[in-house]
Amino acid sequence: MAVQFEDSFNRKFYYLRLSITDVCNFRCTYCLPDGYKPTQKNSSFLGLDELHRVVAAFADCGTSKVRITGGEPTLRKDFTDIVSMTAAQKGIEKIAMTTNGYRLEKHAQHWRDAGLTNINVSVDSLDPRMFHEITGENKFHQVMRGIDAAFDAGFEQVKVNAVLLKDLNSGELPAFLNWIKDKPIQLRFIELMQTGEMNSLFENHHVSGVSIRNHLIANGWIMKVRNQSDGPAEVFCHPDYTGEIGLIMPYKKDFCDSCNRLRVSAVGKLHMCLFGDYGVELRDLLQNDAQEKALIGRIQSALASKKQSHFLDQGHTGMTPHLASIGG
Ligand code: SAM
Ligand code: SF4
Repeated sequence: MAVQFEDSFNRKFYYLRLSITDVCNFRCTYCLPDGYKPTQKNSSFLGLDELHRVVAAFADCGTSKVRITGGEPTLRKDFTDIVSMTAAQKGIEKIAMTTNGYRLEKHAQHWRDAGLTNINVSVDSLDPRMFHEITGENKFHQVMRGIDAAFDAGFEQVKVNAVLLKDLNSGELPAFLNWIKDKPIQLRFIELMQTGEMNSLFENHHVSGVSIRNHLIANGWIMKVRNQSDGPAEVFCHPDYTGEIGLIMPYKKDFCDSCNRLRVSAVGKLHMCLFGDYGVELRDLLQNDAQEKALIGRIQSALASKKQSHFLDQGHTGMTPHLASIGG
């Protein structure tokens, strides 16, 4: 193995978030409220061979988990091939995806068979009308059938992401808790993050996860210990519940201390942080296998400049217009 990816704050990187497209068919109010607008030609997204070289270089430097994301990653016709390619890479133990669930019902079994190990589905509300209002799509029931299909396909746990939105879904905690009582779902509440193109939505709808945290602790939920390749969620379990609750609170001080992930965008740029930077070009070093050493060298020198924090709490939104652009 080449040298493990590490930054100047002694953080080691086990986890790659690989965006494969920035196209999406939903219009989530906090992400693409006006729908997807092409910023680059679709043909410029990394092809299977280029993605393979990214995954191989990261695996050779200690990455054990890859999350395939976007945009909506399942809109790519070669999505299953990308899963198979990643699963076949030595050293990669977990292959996760984040999806809006639109294609899950039909394809959960194919993706499982191709080697997908973990699924995150975004469900911002359990009320079909509110789901429609938040995502712009009347697809609540289709997405829920997709989650059932994932269990039928053999995924032991499904993670569900819900962005916390004041006055929209913030009153749904009892319904969400009831939903996971007997289901192996890890429900992850994500605090709304302010991005470059976001207007008044943040001021109007941002709500901290602290009140949920307090409620959980007061009601017998216990915080679990983090594993090395886990994300930044604080995860809580309860003896009476099959499901778990995760809280992702990026505005919390010290949120970045446990950062263990790097991102590569759909056009082959390395991003140190969701909220960092313009990205470091990798694509010129993804054209043949012989370039791996140079590729790893470029990633390592970029890591030397990874900042300690995203400074979101100081109103910094970085260069990211919306999370679909570099892979949320
Ligand atoms: N389209 C897929 C989906 O929605 O699951 C994958 C990409 S999406 C950008 C990844 C995750 O980022 C979703 O769970 C979404 O809810 C979350 N997200 C997007 N914009 C966000 C924001 N401004 N603040 C917090 N979470 C956000
Ligand atoms: Fe699409 Fe996901 Fe963004 Fe919603 S959050 S618009 S589903 S990329």
